[in-house]
Amino acid sequence: MATEGEVQLQVGKKDDYCCVPRCNGNGRIHLELSFHHFPSEKKRELRKKWIHAIRRDEGPFFKIGKNIVVCSRHFTAEDYRWTLVRKCLKPDVVPSVFEWNTGKPDKLPRKPPTERKILAERTNNAVDIEISLTHSDDEQNFSKQDPEIASNEISVLAHGDENNNGGKLEILEQHIQEKEDIIKAKDKEIEELRERLRIEKFGVNRFSFDDDMIDFYTGFYSYELFLAFFEFIKPSVFYMKSVYYNVKNDHGIRGRPKSLEPIDELFMFLCRVRCGFLSEDLAVRFNIHKSSVSRKLITWANFLYFLLGSINIWPNRDKIQIHMPEDFKLLYPNTRIIIDCTEIYTERPSSLALGSKTFSSYKSHNTWKGLVGIAPHGAVTFISSLYSGCISDVAITEHSGLIELLEPGDQIMADKGFVLDRVLTGSGVSIATPHFLCADGQFTQSQIEDNQKIASLRIHVERHIKKVKEYRLFNSVIPLSIAGSVNQLWTVVNILTLFKRPLIKKKN
Ligand SMILES: [Zn+2]
Repeated sequence: MATEGEVQLQVGKKDDYCCVPRCNGNGRIHLELSFHHFPSEKKRELRKKWIHAIRRDEGPFFKIGKNIVVCSRHFTAEDYRWTLVRKCLKPDVVPSVFEWNTGKPDKLPRKPPTERKILAERTNNAVDIEISLTHSDDEQNFSKQDPEIASNEISVLAHGDENNNGGKLEILEQHIQEKEDIIKAKDKEIEELRERLRIEKFGVNRFSFDDDMIDFYTGFYSYELFLAFFEFIKPSVFYMKSVYYNVKNDHGIRGRPKSLEPIDELFMFLCRVRCGFLSEDLAVRFNIHKSSVSRKLITWANFLYFLLGSINIWPNRDKIQIHMPEDFKLLYPNTRIIIDCTEIYTERPSSLALGSKTFSSYKSHNTWKGLVGIAPHGAVTFISSLYSGCISDVAITEHSGLIELLEPGDQIMADKGFVLDRVLTGSGVSIATPHFLCADGQFTQSQIEDNQKIASLRIHVERHIKKVKEYRLFNSVIPLSIAGSVNQLWTVVNILTLFKRPLIKKKN
């Protein structure tokens, strides 16, 4: 607020330009300058003195108005006085400092040249490329600097010496090229590391070129076969339900979590049953939590049990006849199934009653017992549930549901222990077993021959059981922690033996 007789100091606004000839005072650039209006019409004399002092005449090109100002360069320090809040021109002060009376240009002295550093030397055309380094305080200086000079510098940058400019561009392009090359190299490295990770990560992919290892870990004799099996179950995998998770999957239904690819979960499951790896081991190999391993294994056991268990593996008699090997055709042409029992070791339950039930006097250990049957051509066609180890072969055959599947005229081939005469009474089904020793302790010649024939044919079911036991889970002591899913595992493993190499080699 200006009082009478006092010219208020006006801090530069962006549109203020000093009207003094050859002065470039600019409110936008020279923030340190203040700008002052001409005295009002009321102070006509003073106003005339100002106009005279700046050596301009009012006319068509110069009309004093609210935008016409004189910058603080044209006043001396004594021309100012301080009020409580601001610096003001004293009353009746007339601008007096001009280029023409001081001999100095009304321009701030040019700042010293910015530090220049040779960044690179171009040896080809021997032109030194200089790039000025602008420091942070230079930025401010630049704004205070003479705009003409500043703009000159800019124009040099923009339109300067063609050779120099071209050189700078070339250097920049060179820099960009170098950076691009580095990025490309890094990209390649990342890609290689990813590929290495993909290959080295413990999972089925790592062994995709090694059928022996696929066989070792999964029991599938080739990677192609493993993939074919996965493709077969894949449509159902996405609907696999885990009682342990409430996670919604892509299909919007409750389903499996995604921490491991389904194909690797299957691989993990097979590693468990085929190699007998413990959960702790699998957790490390597959980099997931141990509890997660257990959940996945149980989920897969149930899933494969329902999926594979729904496949009818019991062939009709015509199919049995079509695939009947010559040896059987000659000796036991009515054979429908060759059966045997096997026992699986289990931990001793803490309950005494349960412990005694699973105790097998034959194995002197706590066991579960299962009955399996194969067709004469070698494929498994019957898998019973597991029973406590104290059950007899006859009882397990009777309770397993096998007898109901047989038709009159069928013959069962079995070992001596299967005394099924009572069980088979009235069914029309016969049984071929090796002969017991007679009372005199000797076999007749025909008995010996029969026994040898049966032994040579019955060996295939023993081979099947051997294949099941090649899944090390069933060749070791089953922990009670998986007792709840041992039946599922037993069934699944029996069916998985179908994906192993055939039992009987075809004779040419
Ligand atoms: Zn000025």
